[in-house]
Amino acid sequence: MEKLIIVRMNQRTCDCGKPQKLHMPCAHAIIVCKHNNIDYLQYVCLVYTLDYMSSVYKVNFSKWTASNECQLFLRNTFTYNTS
Ligand SMILES: [Zn+2]
Repeated sequence: MEKLIIVRMNQRTCDCGKPQKLHMPCAHAIIVCKHNNIDYLQYVCLVYTLDYMSSVYKVNFSKWTASNECQLFLRNTFTYNTS
């Protein structure tokens, strides 16, 4: 018995739940797009684009320095065998 799966492209949802969780079209949505000659990439969230991902690294990162308490914690938590 086949299970009926409903894809709602205008709401970006599918009964499988993947588009709602991943913010990108699932296999069902891609089939719907292909059948209707729609570019499924327009339903992919912008955070998955290369431009967006590379923009994360445009921020200047400052050197991290541990506070005295943190250095003490690290020293007491991790021991190194130097022999
Ligand atoms: Zn689906």
